[in-house]
Amino acid sequence: MESYLVDQEGYYGEFGGAYVPEILHKCVEDLQQAYLPIIGSADFQHEYRALLRDYVGRPSPLYRARRLSERYGTQIWLKREDLNHTGAHKINNTVGQILVARRMGKRRIIAETGAGQHGVATATVCALMDMECIVYMGETDVQRQHINVEKMKMLGATVVPVTSGNKTLKDATNEAIRDWCCHPADTFYIIGSTVGPHPYPDMVARLQSVISEEIKVQLLEQTGRDWPDYLMACVGGGSNAGGTIYHYIDDPRVKIVLAEAGGLGVDSGKTAATIALGQVGILHGARSYVIQSPDGQIEEPYSISAGLDYPGIGPMHANLAARGRARVIPVNDDEAVAAAYELTRLEGIIPALESAHALGALPKMQFRPEDIVVLTVSGRGDKDIETYLNYYKR
Ligand SMILES: *Cc1c(COP(=O)(O)O)cnc(C)c1O
Repeated sequence: MESYLVDQEGYYGEFGGAYVPEILHKCVEDLQQAYLPIIGSADFQHEYRALLRDYVGRPSPLYRARRLSERYGTQIWLKREDLNHTGAHKINNTVGQILVARRMGKRRIIAETGAGQHGVATATVCALMDMECIVYMGETDVQRQHINVEKMKMLGATVVPVTSGNKTLKDATNEAIRDWCCHPADTFYIIGSTVGPHPYPDMVARLQSVISEEIKVQLLEQTGRDWPDYLMACVGGGSNAGGTIYHYIDDPRVKIVLAEAGGLGVDSGKTAATIALGQVGILHGARSYVIQSPDGQIEEPYSISAGLDYPGIGPMHANLAARGRARVIPVNDDEAVAAAYELTRLEGIIPALESAHALGALPKMQFRPEDIVVLTVSGRGDKDIETYLNYYKR
């Protein structure tokens, strides 16, 4: 059977690869050669596992949500990435990548961020490891997400506002790549999702795969079997979903459901539903689905959730969708906000707006009472309280 994991050349079916400027070929190739031996080494595993346990707070609980289960007539288990240090799954990846960077002898860390969540997770591990940290962020996002900017500064990072283009994530990404081209020898680029040129999608998925590794153990302990009928997660670039499904990706007993951001509606022109709309193109160094205009310009995506507001999707998930392995459901702003209130009132858990999209897919599903559904709550809602409160005031 053909696997849904990455192949030797860095492709998932027709998606993936490494489309980078000439000057970065060597950097990307060095990383391609280095990442598997490093991640596989006993020394790395020892340090990484200890930090996940003592610094991040893993394993994150697998919580049986009884009232939510009753509402949907099935058994729903929540994988609580919201309880991690810094409030989301992103820290699993930045802890891992900074350990890779150190083992490659790099001293300078760069990153790009949209909502600021990946910037904060990167600045956090740079403080921990005493590494220089430069975060590129579109000027529009700097204004929209000023608390995260303050956090990054307090952590000791330099935040560089990017004023080109629309002054958002796509432009910050271009600027980060430009920086990497100028400092290829001493700089490590920490990418925050399963996107970018090979080996980033695979490296990030492996570093997040601790999520499904834990789900296996926890499900076996609590239900007597180590696999669910359904795995559900939201997708921006695809890292929390990638981690959630990693150890089940080639197991046909497990159905995969991904929620992407519908924004104001897939046909409204204000959406981030990449799979529903996307055409194949190259973005951020990889071949994948991309929201683009008829003449190939990347279009500005929209979602109420800053973390899902990305015009592409990781190549792993593009392939899962193209081959029918995953069902991808667009969830609109209003559906996500309603789902966040529902979880809050039923379980006393305020989810991140991103995670609320995964919850917003529940009413679109038909479950049997005996089904085991595992849904990843990728982050906590503290950063989104104002958006939640203002939503119904308008
Ligand atoms: C960044 C973020 C996401 C989206 O990123 P993925 O790589 O698709 O997981 C989802 N949830 C939260 C809480 C985030 O911060």
